[in-house]
Amino acid sequence: MILFRITLIAYLIIFASSFAISSPITDAQRMLNKLGYNAGPVDGAYGKKTRNALEQFYNNKGEKFDKVLSQNEFIDLNQAIKKINKKYNSNLFIDYDFNSMKGAPFCNDPKGYCANWKNDATSECKENYKFSNDQKSTEYHMKFEHCLEEINFKEFIPYAFKRNKDYSPTPKEKINSVRLIKQNWDKKTNIKPAIIATDDVPEIIMDAVKKGLDTSIDILGNFGPLKVFVVGNDISLVEPLIKEFCKWSKGPDEYIHCSKDQGEAMREMAYIYPGGNGFADHSWYLEKPVQTFVHNPLAGERNEFLALKYKDELFLDSHVAAHEYFHVYQAAHTIFREQDNDNSAYRLPRWMEESNAEYFAWVTGNKNNWINIDERISELVHSVARFRERVPGMSIKDIEQEGGTQRVKNYCGELCIGSLQYEYALIATILLANQTSNDTLFFDFYKNHKRIGWVKAFEKTFRMPVEEFYSSLEIFLKKPTIQQIEQLTEKNRNR
Ligand SMILES: [Zn+2]
Repeated sequence: MILFRITLIAYLIIFASSFAISSPITDAQRMLNKLGYNAGPVDGAYGKKTRNALEQFYNNKGEKFDKVLSQNEFIDLNQAIKKINKKYNSNLFIDYDFNSMKGAPFCNDPKGYCANWKNDATSECKENYKFSNDQKSTEYHMKFEHCLEEINFKEFIPYAFKRNKDYSPTPKEKINSVRLIKQNWDKKTNIKPAIIATDDVPEIIMDAVKKGLDTSIDILGNFGPLKVFVVGNDISLVEPLIKEFCKWSKGPDEYIHCSKDQGEAMREMAYIYPGGNGFADHSWYLEKPVQTFVHNPLAGERNEFLALKYKDELFLDSHVAAHEYFHVYQAAHTIFREQDNDNSAYRLPRWMEESNAEYFAWVTGNKNNWINIDERISELVHSVARFRERVPGMSIKDIEQEGGTQRVKNYCGELCIGSLQYEYALIATILLANQTSNDTLFFDFYKNHKRIGWVKAFEKTFRMPVEEFYSSLEIFLKKPTIQQIEQLTEKNRNR
């Protein structure tokens, strides 16, 4: 999705209160949990979970854990706790225990307060905004989320993860690649893409989608076979389109499941504004693999097509088409594919997948005067600087793998995912393109990725290991914003 709703989703889990026990081990477990390391239940048993948590704690400090829980460890843990308490001692923190959430603890504060209110948040807002997942709370979320716009999270402590060092395709990935190559999945095709829409979608919007798609195909080549589904704003017209989508993308027998999944997303597009978004779907495992994307034009508060009133909004339809088509292009460059193998070397990290697609749409838009990249870069830099203040310690590294992404989601929901993948990562992508060229990023990288997986492709294309790039990105983002903007826009003539 291109646009994301800034909604903080938190799940309230009711905990059975546990007995308060105290021993050196329970103290260590408590401290580890408070610091964001999962030591498991506070039970006083020095087991695998507690040991692992200590190992993670020392890993993140850049030190080695000697496997023995002794005086030294208590001193280090105590110091870490003290540091955090001092840094975040504020009475603005939201009175809600974030550590009672699913997959907790995430929060550094002993009381579990990770977030604070906006300075000028009204008391009405504070009283009514509740973190929970029942119907009423969802309503209040929507109504009162304005006072959380400046929500400040305590320092996020990333889990150090080990990247899979085996870059050879799995047996299942190999089998699938043979089939996909045979079907010309990764080759350019002569089959023209089809654009299908509900009856209420105006002609000018269809033209704008087609323009974005054609321009992108001119640059990247025609991959497919591709069908594009444009969902309008009339819920009564959407069912036949969902049926066609499901049949095309999922096969003839998958309607029930597809209707509940992507079908539901399409219904939501039809009856909820604002739209201006889309999603892509790639049928790697179908007997005859196909490519698909779905688009919903921008709508106003009465769910009317905004482009009919403001012609400039048509650019967004072209933009979304370019973004989603880049996902089609990425999928065509993924031949080693296995269902549910989330950390495969051939799965692009989420930050790259999304920010590369968005950057492609920017570059295409800039060439065609749909958007002005320089203006966008300035907004982007300021937005990322704010994000880094609001959620300190979190970076695109945290959404490299699925496990990390889940952790980020639990911590601050779509708010963080959206900022990381469309903004933070976009700066990363622009840096990569500036250090090499747009063609290097769009063509060389994906050619390499197809054969050797993204980690090795990254190293080969950009001539540095991923880890080194992550570090250099952090150094870049610590520069004054004016310097960042200057550096990111200097290569504009090459775009
Ligand atoms: Zn996307």
